[in-house]
Amino acid sequence: MQDNHRHKGLRKKLIDELRQMGIFDERILSAFNAIPRHFFLDLAFLEKAYTNIAFQIGAGQTISHPYTVAFQTQLLELEKGEKVLEIGTGSGFQTCILCELGLRVFTVERQKELYLSSKEIINQFGFHPKQFYGDGYKGLDMYQPFDKVLITCGAPEIPKMLIQQMKIGGKMVVPVGEGESQLMQRVTKVSENEISIEEFGTFRFVPMLQNTTK
Ligand code: SAH
Repeated sequence: MQDNHRHKGLRKKLIDELRQMGIFDERILSAFNAIPRHFFLDLAFLEKAYTNIAFQIGAGQTISHPYTVAFQTQLLELEKGEKVLEIGTGSGFQTCILCELGLRVFTVERQKELYLSSKEIINQFGFHPKQFYGDGYKGLDMYQPFDKVLITCGAPEIPKMLIQQMKIGGKMVVPVGEGESQLMQRVTKVSENEISIEEFGTFRFVPMLQNTTK
C-alpha cells in the first residue's frame, strides 16, 4: 500500500484536530504522523482513514477512533523502555503507536483472525512486539510485572488478575462498563493491595469477552 502526499496531508489535518481536542504530548502526535492509519483499513475506506471515526476490521471488531487511541495513550504517561501490556490487539494500529514510542510491547488478542492479520501488518512496519493469541483477562503471567496496562475493549469491571501483574506505581487505562458506553478509568497500583482510580469521561468500545473459543 502506498503513502502519498494526500495521505500525508490528511494525517497532518488529523493531528491538528487531535491537538485541538486536548492531545498535548508531542511524542504521541509524532507517532500518529509516523504510522499511516490507512494501512490498517480495508482499501474501500482509504480516503476516510483520517477522519475521526471507528471502523470495522473484521471478526465483528472495530479499530478505535484516532482520538480514543491518542487519549488512552496519553493517560498512560509512558516513558521510553517501559513494559506495556495491551489487551485487544485488533488491527494492530494502537500496538504500532506503542512500538513507535519506544516501549517494550506485549499484546493479546482473542480473535485468531485478527491475531494473525495484525501480526503481519505490525511486522511490515518493522516492529516485533510480543504478540499472543489468548484471553486478555489472564494477562501474561510469564512476562509480568508490567509498568503499564492498556485495555482497548470495554471491561465489565477492572480485571483483578491484570492489577496483580502490574508493578507498584504502575498504571492501567481501562474503559469500564457493560452495554452502550464505558467510563474511562486510570487505575494506579498504590501498594500490593491498594489501588486508586481516576475517571475521564465516557467512550464506546466493543466488549472485553470472557472466553477464547473462536
Ligand atoms: N487496539 C485495537 C482496538 C481493537 S477493538 C486497534 O487499534 O485496532 C478491541 C479488541 O479487543 C478486539 O479486537 C477484540 O477481539 C479484543 N478483545 C475482546 N475481548 C478480549 C479478551 N478477553 N482478550 C483479548 N482481546 C480481547
